Amino acid sequence: MSQRPIYLDCHSTTPVDERVLNTMLPYFTEHFGNASSIGHMYGWEAEAAVKKARVTIAEAINATPEEIVFTSGATEANNLAIKGVAEAYFAQGQHIITLETEHNAVIDPCNYLKTLGFEITFLPVQKDGIINLKDLEKAFRDDTILVSIMAANNEIGVLQPLAEIGAMCHERNIIFHSDSAQAIGKIPLDVQAMNIDLMSLTAHKVYGAKGIGALYVRRRNPRVNLASQQHGGGHERGMRSGTLYTPQIVGFGKAVEIALQTQATENAYLTQLRQSLWEQLSQLTGIHLNGHPTQRLAGNLNVSVEGVDGSALLLGLQSVMAVSSGAACSSISTAPSHVLTALGHSEKLAYASVRFGIGRFNTATEINKVAEHFISTVESLRKQAVMI
Ligand SMILES: *Cc1c(COP(=O)(O)O)cnc(C)c1O
Repeated sequence: MSQRPIYLDCHSTTPVDERVLNTMLPYFTEHFGNASSIGHMYGWEAEAAVKKARVTIAEAINATPEEIVFTSGATEANNLAIKGVAEAYFAQGQHIITLETEHNAVIDPCNYLKTLGFEITFLPVQKDGIINLKDLEKAFRDDTILVSIMAANNEIGVLQPLAEIGAMCHERNIIFHSDSAQAIGKIPLDVQAMNIDLMSLTAHKVYGAKGIGALYVRRRNPRVNLASQQHGGGHERGMRSGTLYTPQIVGFGKAVEIALQTQATENAYLTQLRQSLWEQLSQLTGIHLNGHPTQRLAGNLNVSVEGVDGSALLLGLQSVMAVSSGAACSSISTAPSHVLTALGHSEKLAYASVRFGIGRFNTATEINKVAEHFISTVESLRKQAVMI
C-alpha cells in the first residue's frame, strides 16, 4: 500500500490522543451508566466521571464547574449562546455585533436571527486579520445585547484581543460571547480576566473525540440567562437536555488536561515547525503569508500563491499532504474563503491559498518533505502556465 499523505489539517480536526482514548474506553462498556441515574452505582460512576471532566474544563478557563454546559460541539454551543441570548434578551434590544471572519457556526445563527428581525453588524478586520477596536467602539448601540468574537480564527489562526473586547463590553453591560473552539488548550483563556460571559468549546480540535463540546455560561457578575434550544429532561440545568455522553465527556476532560500540561512546550515545538515551513516556502517568489505573523496559533500557517490555479495546486499536493484550501471550509463550495476576502485579497489570490494546520504528532522530517513537495508543485504548475 502506498503511504498515506502527511496530515496537516489540524484546524479541521485532530486524531484522538491514545491517552485520551484509553481514558474513554471503560466508559463505553464497564462504566456505561447514565450520569442522571442517581439511584445506583452505575449512575454514580458516570456522574463522578462527568464531574471530574467538568472540573478540569472549568479550571482550564477559570470558571466554576456549574458554569459548564456540555453540548455536541462548538456548533451547538454557538447556536445555544447566540440564539439563547437573542431569545432571552430581545426585550432589551435586538442588535448583535460580530466579525466578518467568524466561523459559519456563528455567522449562520446571526443570519438566521436577521430573518426574525434582529440587526447584525458584521465588523471588518484589518489586513492582518485582527479587529480594529475603534470599529467595535463605533458599532456599539443602546440596543446592543451581544458581541460575539472568536478567540482564534480557524483559517488564518489569528488571535483576537479578547481581554480588551471583554472590558469594552462589560463597561456597557453587553454580553460577550467567544467561539474558542480553536483556542482551548492552545492559548491561555481566562473568562474572569477577559470578561467573557459565554465561551464555546469543542474537543476534537484538541485531540479529543468528535461530537462533544461545551458552552461556558457565566453565573455571576452578571448572571447570563439563556433560552434553551433543546427541551427535554432538563439536563445541564435545563439549558441542554439529553443524556450526557459520558465517554466523550471523560475524553474531553483528559484532552484538556494533557493540553494544559503541555501547552508551553507544545507551542514552542509547533512554532519551530511553522517557522521552518515558512522559511522554506518563502523561497518561492509570489507567496504571501495570510494573517498576523506572530499573533496567531502556533500550529497555523496560511499562504496564498500567485500565478497558480488553486484547485490545480491542491490536486498536485494531495498525494503527499492533507491540507485545506482557502475554499475548503464549506466543503462543496469552490468560492473563495470569506476570511481571506475579508483580508482584502482579490478573489483569485484568495482561492490559490493553502492552510497548514500543524499538530502534536507532526515531525520536522514531515515538514521538510511537505515544503519540498509544495515548492516543486508550485514551480511545475507555473512552468506549465508559461508553456500554455
Ligand atoms: C471547528 C470549529 C467550530 C465547529 O465545531 P464543532 O465542534 O465541529 O461543531 C466552530 N468554530 C470554530 C472556530 C471552529 O474551528
